Amino acid sequence: MVHQNYDKIIEKIARVSGLDKNEIERKVEAKRAKLSGLISREGAAQVIASELGINFDNEKLKIDELLPGMKRVNLIGKVLNISPVREFNKNGKEGKVANLVIADETSNIKIVLWDTNHIELIEKKQIDIGHVVEIGNASMRENEIHLGSFSEFKKSDEIIEEVQTQISSKEKPIIMFRNMENVKNRSFIMQIFDPKFFNVCPECKRKVENSGENYSCQQHGIVFPEKRALLNIVLDDGTETIRAVLFQEGIGSLGFRNLENREAFEEQKKEFLGKEMFFSGNVRMNKFFNNMEIIIDRAEEIDLNALINELEVK
Ligand SMILES: [Zn+2]
Repeated sequence: MVHQNYDKIIEKIARVSGLDKNEIERKVEAKRAKLSGLISREGAAQVIASELGINFDNEKLKIDELLPGMKRVNLIGKVLNISPVREFNKNGKEGKVANLVIADETSNIKIVLWDTNHIELIEKKQIDIGHVVEIGNASMRENEIHLGSFSEFKKSDEIIEEVQTQISSKEKPIIMFRNMENVKNRSFIMQIFDPKFFNVCPECKRKVENSGENYSCQQHGIVFPEKRALLNIVLDDGTETIRAVLFQEGIGSLGFRNLENREAFEEQKKEFLGKEMFFSGNVRMNKFFNNMEIIIDRAEEIDLNALINELEVK
């Protein structure tokens, strides 16, 4: 992931300066050597860029080019959704905050507005879902773009035909997980709890309750329910442990079968405990236990050959 960031900076320097990529990389290595390796490759590349007089400041970036920690970021995107404006009271100071999601053709990202003038545009619907907005002088915090009073936020006349509505999951360690975030993580299965079963309506797949002998769906009345499983496991990637919840899709991708058979379950459990895999899903705050958990929608085998090839290329 880090290498990808570096490559993007190098590409940008090459594009703007017209210099050969190899030459830029040599400059980066020379800079690092001079600083006794105390600076990351990304950091050294940024220094080279500024020495070449390349100013990233006024350049509009695509959403998938945004890197954590970036400042004075400019971008445009189409508003996909807007969350209700929230009021808060912090240390006796009242304020408002608004969240929206914007997308371009490469990806989408959450935007956080702190300035009352910006928030007013949302409240008055001068900026609304479907509008294209221009953002200037914003900063990246984690995977979000934050706008302060020095930032620009205005409607743009540019047209964005196709937007990437699929939220890309970023690979990150468990300790960095944040609520509501889509993440991918490589970790070990430390614990597998007994599966739980519940019934859903065959039409709308919503949970149904049994009333006497019958199962009834709020929308579809009395139905013959489908039985579904839920599996709780614990993951550990060395930075932290987290409880993970798997439903139908997640269980299927994990490779667990025939959960209702006790013996088969115990056999599979032995096979999966201690196994390392890639997991993708959405992080949620479990309000009951007051801790983070992840709803896994995909578990993938680790392709060691692919990982080795990737390392050799770098
Ligand atoms: Zn139903």
